[in-house]
Amino acid sequence: VNYSKKFAVEPGSAVRLDDMDPSFTGKHASEDDAKAAVAKDRERLAELQYRLYAENQRSVLIVLQALDAGGKDGTVRHVFGALNPQGATAHSFKVPTAEEAAHDFLWRAHKVTPARGQIAIFNRSYYEDVLVTRVHGLVSKDAIEKRYDRIVEFEKNLAQAGTRILKFFLHISADEQLRRFEQRLDDPRRQWKISESDYSERPYWDAYRKAYEDTLERTSTNRAPWYVIPANHKWFRNLAVGRIVTDAVDELDPKYPPPAVDIEKMRAAFHAAAELSTGTA
Ligand code: ATP
Ligand code: MG
Repeated sequence: VNYSKKFAVEPGSAVRLDDMDPSFTGKHASEDDAKAAVAKDRERLAELQYRLYAENQRSVLIVLQALDAGGKDGTVRHVFGALNPQGATAHSFKVPTAEEAAHDFLWRAHKVTPARGQIAIFNRSYYEDVLVTRVHGLVSKDAIEKRYDRIVEFEKNLAQAGTRILKFFLHISADEQLRRFEQRLDDPRRQWKISESDYSERPYWDAYRKAYEDTLERTSTNRAPWYVIPANHKWFRNLAVGRIVTDAVDELDPKYPPPAVDIEKMRAAFHAAAELSTGTA
């Protein structure tokens, strides 16, 4: 199955999240059933990242957005745990600091976009500036509209500089969110994740959904597509995100650069060195 096609938000199309099943698992009946595919993608991604890094020309930006308990952290751990840290960065976007808030909203994001050869993962992103800000009325409707345009321009700018952008909305149901909050309460290893805002944001569920729908509609482009990932099942979420990212880097087809030296000359030097060292042995 081509998940990139299946879950992509077609540029200019209307998005209705209610029509998208967050429990979808495709042809896979269970986690076990998907294990081999996940392992294969992880290996492919690691190999492709190595080529991207060696090529040192292009970069990849991955944006993860979701409501609380949507699984951003788990996705970073499971899908991107396969990456070599030397060629990857991850950034969490929190409530802006005083310094960040004193700048335009893209400033803090632009500073951490991926350098050539790198893969950057944004856990939340500049999209918070058209989501949480809108839901809480911190920014006017008019300003939000302008920000959509600024975001599209920003991503165009990055794309033209050689950055492949992939944006994921991890789609869970309200019931699944509550189930995960309950697990957090009952599991000492997860209790640290609980925040007051988990519950104070829940009444805004519908407002968030609407804000996400508009955002996906206004900012999904061919050069920076959004994907709506069914995320009630964590294992399927990992499979789908991993596959889409791996296929996208595969499509970039990064190439090893030509050697910086004359290989024949180096081979001669090697033989000379080898002969000398057998002489001394
Ligand atoms: P988890 O989903 O695992 O709880 P998290 O990403 O929610 O992790 P937190 O530190 O709990 O991490 O929350 C970060 C908070 O910062 C979120 O509530 C988010 O909406 C908020 N935030 C991020 N960017 C902005 C912004 N530009 N303006 C206002 N709030 C923002
Ligand atoms: Mg939180």
